[in-house]
Amino acid sequence: MTRDVWLTRHPYLQPVADVQSLVAAGADGVAVHSAPIPEWDHYAADFHAGIPLLRSSTVAFDFSAVETAVQSLIRSLASASLPEPLAAPCRDLEAEIETTDSRSPAHPGLLHYLGWVVLVRYLAPVVSAFDAWRDEERWLRNYCPTCGEPPTMAQLVGKDPGRLRMLSCGRCRTRWRYSRTGCPFCEAQGAHRLAVVAVEGEAGLRIDYCDACSGYLKTYDGEGSESVLLADWTSLHLDMIARDRGLKRLAASLYDLDAS
Ligand SMILES: [Zn+2]
Ligand SMILES: [Zn+2]
Repeated sequence: MTRDVWLTRHPYLQPVADVQSLVAAGADGVAVHSAPIPEWDHYAADFHAGIPLLRSSTVAFDFSAVETAVQSLIRSLASASLPEPLAAPCRDLEAEIETTDSRSPAHPGLLHYLGWVVLVRYLAPVVSAFDAWRDEERWLRNYCPTCGEPPTMAQLVGKDPGRLRMLSCGRCRTRWRYSRTGCPFCEAQGAHRLAVVAVEGEAGLRIDYCDACSGYLKTYDGEGSESVLLADWTSLHLDMIARDRGLKRLAASLYDLDAS
C-alpha cells in the first residue's frame, strides 16, 4: 500500500495530505543538523527508572538550533503560496517571531506540529540509535521512551505464539514494546482484554478499546506498509468511527479532529 493508493481510496484525506506535503517541502529547504548520539552509559540509570530520553538531565540536546530551524520553516511557509486555511496562521506565526513579546502563540496546535516536523528530522539518528541500544524488556511502559508522549497507535508484530504489540509515537516516531493485552491508558491488565472493532473495508486496521476507561487505540494488524498504516492522519476516519461509538481519544495526536 502506497500513500497514493491510500489517498485514491480515501479521497477525503487529500487536504491533510496536501498540507503535509507542503510542510515537508518547506522543511526540506531548512538546514537542521542532526542531534549527536548520546552516551548511553550515562543515560542507562535514568532509562531503568522510566525517564524518557528527552527528559533526562544526563543528555543535552541543542534545542536552540531546532528553534532557529522552526523559525526558518515558518518564514518560508509564510512567503509560499499556501491554501488559505494554512496561509493566514503561518503569517500570524511569522509576525509573532518578529515581536519580542512572549505571549502564548495564536496557533499553538500549528506551532506544535511544525516544531515536531523539524524535531523528527533533528532526532532521526538518535531515535534509530536508541532503538538499537534499548532493551525493550526493561521499558514496557505506556509512554514513549524517547519523548514521554502517550502512544498514538499500535501494531501487532510477528506470529502467534510470541506475537508482540508495539506502540508508536506520533511525535518522534519511536516504536516500543508494550504488553500484548493490557490497556495502555488506564493500565488495566491481567484478565482484562481490550475489545476489538473491525473496520469494514480496511484490512489490517482496527480499533481496540477498553471497557474500563473507554480509551481506544488504533491498531494495525498486518505486515508491511507501516509508514502509511501507522500514520495517525491516514486513519482519521477510525477516530470518527470510535467517536461515534462514544469512545474517548486518550492517544496523543498532532491532528486534533475538534480543532477549528
Ligand atoms: Zn516520542
Ligand atoms: Zn483503559
